[in-house]
Amino acid sequence: MNPAGAAFQVSSGSPLSYSSVRTYQECPQRWKFLYIDRLSETPRGYFSFGRSVHSVLESMLRPLVEPASRRVIPGRTQKTLDAYRPTNGEELSEGRLPSVSELLKLYDAAWVRDGYTSTEEESRYKMLGADLLLRYRAALEEERPHPIAVEPHLEATWDGIPIHGYIDRIDRGKGGGLEILDYKTSRELSEEDARDSDQLSIYQVLVERNYPDPVEGLTLFHLRSLKPLRVAPRGRSAIETLYDRVGTVSDGIRAQAFEPTPGRQCTRCEFKPLCPEFREVPADERLHLAELVDRFRALREREQALESDLRLTAEELHRAAEHLGVHRIPGSSGTALRRKEEVWQYPSEQLVPLLERAGLGEPATPLTTEAVRRLIRDPSIDAELRRRVAETGSRRVKWYWELDEGVDAS
Ligand code: SF4
Repeated sequence: MNPAGAAFQVSSGSPLSYSSVRTYQECPQRWKFLYIDRLSETPRGYFSFGRSVHSVLESMLRPLVEPASRRVIPGRTQKTLDAYRPTNGEELSEGRLPSVSELLKLYDAAWVRDGYTSTEEESRYKMLGADLLLRYRAALEEERPHPIAVEPHLEATWDGIPIHGYIDRIDRGKGGGLEILDYKTSRELSEEDARDSDQLSIYQVLVERNYPDPVEGLTLFHLRSLKPLRVAPRGRSAIETLYDRVGTVSDGIRAQAFEPTPGRQCTRCEFKPLCPEFREVPADERLHLAELVDRFRALREREQALESDLRLTAEELHRAAEHLGVHRIPGSSGTALRRKEEVWQYPSEQLVPLLERAGLGEPATPLTTEAVRRLIRDPSIDAELRRRVAETGSRRVKWYWELDEGVDAS
């Protein structure tokens, strides 16, 4: 099981996981440090805690997996207990939860000590983990889940994009479909988190492409409160929106676009000293570069002063042109010509319902202004509809000046 923050070691051609997509979205340069350069980060206690708890959850739930579960890909079946090789000398048997003492033994063996800032912090986390697991075990005694898979590693090609992920648990739902569940050890968790979770969305895509049954529900399980935060599966448009975002990440990686994107994430980024955004200029280059920077700054100031002067002069010419009703103003070495740029706008929120009501359907792509104007002029379309479409439009005129270099003879 992979608690949030775990880094998968992948190269640019490898499948994308939820966490690698999220890392790239935050900062492509950081993604490169982690997934291409394979730099490792200092372990943090919080992640070690998550790994330890998830590892015990896996051992605890594995015996409950229903052996008949089969994946849709031939030859690929979910590991049942027989195929699962416990590493900690656990004595697990099918259909049975570990006893309290077995659970604590599993927890001791699975405990990851890395990254805690003090023994006091480590023991605080360890007590918290034991408490969560014991309370969760008691809850499972009351109500047994029916997992068909525990931590399956699922892979898929999502319309050309290879993706993968480890899913904490997949259950058989009440309606015969599948329920996806992800455990969270975080302090706070809300239903909104479950609604907005890209992780759950990617899991839904993975499950839909690996199992024949539909996904019935998505759950983030908050271990501290033992509260399942369940939401309905994502609809088509949410999945398409996510696909576009994952596609942007995939395209960026393929194009080796790894520019740093500084932001709040930099405060917890360990690669700052290596990052071009923060790397220091070598001492022997500083003087020369400082002169260039000063020159750049002076030129920029002049540019801004010129821009402002240009704008004020154009505005004064406009006022004079409006007042006199002229479009050509001669100077001593050229003529200023007043030109206009006209833009028509038809807001789709007004246009689309009109077209739908008229039985013209929602266009697959947003209508261009030219297409709307063609429609307004098209005599084969109902005149009343054309009038109403025309009424949604607004016209914006932008005036600007051009210079005719020749002296105006008129
Ligand atoms: S320091 Fe900031 S900009 Fe640089 S790699 Fe890290 S997150 Fe990205």
